[in-house]
Amino acid sequence: MSDIIRLSAADLAAKLRAGEVSAVEATRAHLDRISAVDGDVHAFLHVNEHAERYAADIDQRRSAGEELPELAGVPLAVKDVLVTTDMPSTSGSKILEGYMSPYDATVVARARAAGLIAIGKTNMDEFAMGSSTEHSAYGPTHNPWDLDRIPGGSGGGSAAAVAAFEAPLALGSDTGGSIRQPAHVTGTVGMKPTYGAVSRYGAIALASSLDQVGPVTRTVLDSALLQDIIGGHDANDATSLSEQWPSFAAAAREGARGDVLKGLKIGVITELPDSGFQPGVAESFRAALATMEAQGAEIVEISAPHFEYGVAAYYLILPAEASSNLAKFDSVRFGLRVTPDGGATVEDVMAATREAGFGEEVKRRIILGTYALSAGYYDAYYGSAQKVRTLIQRDFDNAFEKVDVIATPAAPTTAFKLGERIGDPLQMYLNDVTTIPANLAGVPGITLPSGLASDDGLPVGIQFLAPAREDARLYRVGAALETLLVDQWGGPLLERAPRLPGETTHEGEAR
Ligand code: GLN
Repeated sequence: MSDIIRLSAADLAAKLRAGEVSAVEATRAHLDRISAVDGDVHAFLHVNEHAERYAADIDQRRSAGEELPELAGVPLAVKDVLVTTDMPSTSGSKILEGYMSPYDATVVARARAAGLIAIGKTNMDEFAMGSSTEHSAYGPTHNPWDLDRIPGGSGGGSAAAVAAFEAPLALGSDTGGSIRQPAHVTGTVGMKPTYGAVSRYGAIALASSLDQVGPVTRTVLDSALLQDIIGGHDANDATSLSEQWPSFAAAAREGARGDVLKGLKIGVITELPDSGFQPGVAESFRAALATMEAQGAEIVEISAPHFEYGVAAYYLILPAEASSNLAKFDSVRFGLRVTPDGGATVEDVMAATREAGFGEEVKRRIILGTYALSAGYYDAYYGSAQKVRTLIQRDFDNAFEKVDVIATPAAPTTAFKLGERIGDPLQMYLNDVTTIPANLAGVPGITLPSGLASDDGLPVGIQFLAPAREDARLYRVGAALETLLVDQWGGPLLERAPRLPGETTHEGEAR
């Protein structure tokens, strides 16, 4: 039973189809795992009490001879930013404690229709603001590689759940890196699709022009399979792209077969010198590039002079949009209501509710965003940031005339210690330097493990970026590199993660 949890979603699905494992067994194995390790990891905010019933339904339909979708019966963890009818949706905030949505986010509805079993909701920084999950109102998540370290953020819960084998698949959201940076620090795969490729309907908005929902998995193929399920046009999302997408799973399988690296032009940004990165991160990045070069890829230096201004522009655009999006938490329509002693007016109630319901980081960004949008400062701050955004988009356009993909280390350092940066917002923001440009430009980005850092032994991710709508290219290239690296390592990187305290052998003995 214990090895069920270590299977990729693709392999588990094959066993489910072959009748070697039932959906109930697969679901129970993951629920048992959650019971055993989540007290230490704290990846989950809610575990789905209906999960086994859903699984039993899949088993029953399968045994009745129904032709089920490819991944039917595979468990899925859902970031708490996505609304669900059968579990609370809090977005990591006290202001939405216990909130039950009347509808499922489109991605959740599509996952359910594909037979995936939503086993729980994962922890996150409040309203997806952060890089460490320490801004969650419900306490931080711990990195399964080292419980004293951050699992990344804002989607640290989804990444930790997948890395700790509590779920083979998870959903995340990425506004400035919240899928890709947690993947980097946990040795998992995180994909931010092209803006508009996956519906945002039912994703509690942080910054609507940047937000994108995407997969968090242990393999590139699993990510592709999940995007095949959740992606595509949705009439409920006005920014949803209407095109027909190719099969991403087919792209990943093609990449894994090799050959796609021959003649591939990989851009490396000259303005991102190795010196800005932890030595072990830069070294792992260079080694991954060398592995690809040995297979016939060509490394091309490109200039993206505005890339480094991404953080500054993002931390004006994001707060501006967030201050507007979060105005709806007004004590009237959703969640918490605090009536102050002697408070009479609706304004008193709103103020007391927002004071009690929002955490420090959320308040900081609402204040910043409101300021940036105020009449006297709009052009100086918000207007300038939008111009920088255009310049970054042009940098990408120019770069993609010369190269097929751009590669960067996924983040400047490996997982830092819990508590280390929480008191220094600027340090926390600078962590997003390599991930933010993709959100500003709307292009897709994938992070997959490139190895363990030689200086601290922690996971490192490599990020690939492609032109908008070229998500399939990322799956092809990502799967090609993954195949080579897993071969070099003699097995998946996550198999090297230390055992968790709650982990037992199948005989029930503590290891
Ligand atoms: N770390 C970034 C931030 O704090 C990214 C957040 C996200 O992608 N949701 O805004």
